[in-house]
Amino acid sequence: MTVTQSLTRHLKNPELFVDLASVPDPTSAKATRRFPVFNPSTGELLAELPDMDAVDVAKAIDKAQSAKEQWAALTARERSNTLWIWHELILNHSEDLAAVLTAEMGKPLAEAKSEIAHAAAYLQWYAEEANRIYGETISAPSNDRRMLVIKQPVGVVGAITPWNFPASMVARKVAPALAAGCVVILKPAEQTPLIAGAMFSLARMAGFPDGVLNLVYASEGDAVGRELCSNPKVRKISFTGSTEVGRLLMRQCSDQIKKISFELGGNAPFIVFDDADVDAAVEGAIQAKFRNAGQTCVSANRLYVQSSVHDEFAEKFTQRVRALRVGDGFEPNVAIGPLIDTRALAKIENHIGDAVEKGGKIRCGGSRIGPSGTFFEPTVITDVVSTMRLAREETFGPLAPIIRFDDAEKVVREANDTIYGLAAYFYASNLKRVWRVAETLEYGMVGINTGRMSSEAAPFGGMKQSGIGREGSRHGLEAYLEMKYLCMGGL
Ligand code: NAD
Repeated sequence: MTVTQSLTRHLKNPELFVDLASVPDPTSAKATRRFPVFNPSTGELLAELPDMDAVDVAKAIDKAQSAKEQWAALTARERSNTLWIWHELILNHSEDLAAVLTAEMGKPLAEAKSEIAHAAAYLQWYAEEANRIYGETISAPSNDRRMLVIKQPVGVVGAITPWNFPASMVARKVAPALAAGCVVILKPAEQTPLIAGAMFSLARMAGFPDGVLNLVYASEGDAVGRELCSNPKVRKISFTGSTEVGRLLMRQCSDQIKKISFELGGNAPFIVFDDADVDAAVEGAIQAKFRNAGQTCVSANRLYVQSSVHDEFAEKFTQRVRALRVGDGFEPNVAIGPLIDTRALAKIENHIGDAVEKGGKIRCGGSRIGPSGTFFEPTVITDVVSTMRLAREETFGPLAPIIRFDDAEKVVREANDTIYGLAAYFYASNLKRVWRVAETLEYGMVGINTGRMSSEAAPFGGMKQSGIGREGSRHGLEAYLEMKYLCMGGL
């Protein structure tokens, strides 16, 4: 791997990341093939990485398989201690890690710091949870038998992560897997592999035995995914990314009935009822929509606002959006960084074009910024109807469509009318309405009078085509444990 000055100049301790050069062992990848990683704000080349193929993945799987028993044989306390050390190292290097994140992904430095803290929080949580893996005893139907349930690690896990939260998604998968006693092969997104490399470099310093954590860099996911899904030594696939790739991986895992945990796309509704605190709803919508430039799976994709508060909300919200500063994530007071690539720009333009053609009105924004780069103005569109593309599909960008509604019951049905079921938000004060709406929304996570809800302590995940399983909390640990029932007779 070659790391350029464009990356190291942002780091206090660049020596630490020189170690990236040997993670993974470069001799295992075909020496001739490399792929570039760019800074989306400036277009600068940050690094060139070995482009690993199916043969390299198979080697990483073998390495993981050979470390499996050693890691699983440690006591829970020993596994927990190593996770704690990794957690401390991540906190100690959080400034540099945040800089790597901003350089390769573009998000504002303050958001990058908060993501690193969130990633560390997963390590802390699962360092604690590692010590709390309990079984059960069950009353037996006769006195000469005893029945019990024990929990054991699933084994070798293949993990594939996206570019939008490239540090916390790694921690959210790897930490519970390690706590459970599993070993991992991780393939980070090709746009943002450096933060995973940096975190794994620290993991090595923390003392995880060789083969327990294995990193695979690749310029695309297809060959790696196929090998992870078809290699019988891999017992589980944990994937976060698009629903489209999730469908493909599910098919590839079906031959071996491989265990899967999927966190996929979303199309979050954000509903403001007439009994809401409008100012609080405006702030909540800014957070839920524009964090990470709208590139979050839980981003408020459709804002439904009841008629009697619609104009006030639209006016105040648009004013707030106009004040959001767009720019390079390393500049002070920037709220919105670049989009990840030009395809993301094309998608947002397509959604805006379709909406305007069908009667949508642009209240602010609507255009690219600058002749080059991938910056886009934060945009508000009103007069939106649910049939427009921007309300049916995940935009994954800084575009907020506002849909006016009158009927409070009908709007919940409309909010549920999607293949997705990840996150939903609503603002209301009437207690009966709060309960009814919360129970009726077909979403894995519902924010009530708040625009933020991610926490390592809570089960994150979706219904319908937004995923299978949950990550974070105690439930996220169970996803890496097999349940074994023992019945002892002749007692
Ligand atoms: P993506 O599905 O294109 O890529 C995600 C990962 O899958 C990357 O590492 C990529 O290299 C890999 N990949 C791509 N094609 C593959 C293939 N054929 N086989 C195996 N792996 C393959 O998604 P993205 O654009 O990186 O991320 C955005 C999507 O992720 C959005 O839909 C977003 O909603 C979703 N997401 C969901 C969550 C969640 O927790 N539910 C969190 C973050 C992002």
